Amino acid sequence: MTITTNIMNTDHVKELLHKAAGLDKETGSARNKQIMHRLLTDIYTMIEDLDITPEEFWQGVNYLNELGANGEAVLLAPGLGFDHFLDLREDAKDALAGELGGTPRTIEGPLYVEGAPLSDGEARMDDGQSPGQEMWLHGQVLDEAGNPLADAIVDIWHADKKGGYSHFDPTQSEFNLRRRIKTDSEGKYRARSIVPSGYGCPPGGSTMKVLESLGRHGNRPAHIHYFVSKPGYKHLTTQINLAGDEYTYDDFAFATRDELVVEAVEVTDSKRITEKGFKDNYLDVEFNISLMQTSDDEKQNKHARARAAASQA
Ligand code: FE
Repeated sequence: MTITTNIMNTDHVKELLHKAAGLDKETGSARNKQIMHRLLTDIYTMIEDLDITPEEFWQGVNYLNELGANGEAVLLAPGLGFDHFLDLREDAKDALAGELGGTPRTIEGPLYVEGAPLSDGEARMDDGQSPGQEMWLHGQVLDEAGNPLADAIVDIWHADKKGGYSHFDPTQSEFNLRRRIKTDSEGKYRARSIVPSGYGCPPGGSTMKVLESLGRHGNRPAHIHYFVSKPGYKHLTTQINLAGDEYTYDDFAFATRDELVVEAVEVTDSKRITEKGFKDNYLDVEFNISLMQTSDDEKQNKHARARAAASQA
């Protein structure tokens, strides 16, 4: 008999995996059993192939405890590329179904809050208390053929100058920098706001611990999140990155897509500044959106996911 540390293919380990995944039991979820069996098999195999030591294994287990306690799993996920990978898979499914087109999707991130105030055509997003350069954010929602889409809901959320989001940053008022705007008869939406800053993962946090061990940073460029929807059209989850930010093309969360990088234009013309009711030079940000038609009800809604709601604040 040959003595070896390659034990993955032994009957004993196969039986261990089978039982650990509940495959010898009638009850439970077949899908969960399938996923768990695969997950355990892949991890056991990695432990064997990379000769993971008990010290390394328990370091990993204790890290998971800490990650959950800090509520940072939703931050580590985009940092490890999972959110972008899921987007790429949705793109591939669209391609297979012959449904490519429209404004590209990109990651939602963990900081959306349900139920922002709804306005017709135009909204002011900041509460007047947030410092920062003023911004005129506007665009048109169109169908694939370029026809304007009236009554589409453009749900926008972005960070303040410190890179913080209302609801998660207790110093900001409720729904600050979060608005839903219904497009007008020309498919247009307009928002008066302040220019957001990029932000980084909490220093010393669980996500940074991993990223630093990989020689990576945890920064995002300045960006603005969008959900865009209208009955009969595919729900779009996307965001724009402002050009010129140090991290525009080096986002730790991999959300940047070329079509979503927007050149913001600084407006210095005093007539236009006064017209808009701004105090100083402002940034004009234009983002036009193209939605794809669909008769599939499921595709008209954003995918299910636990999201914050203001009532829980
Ligand atoms: Fe964000």
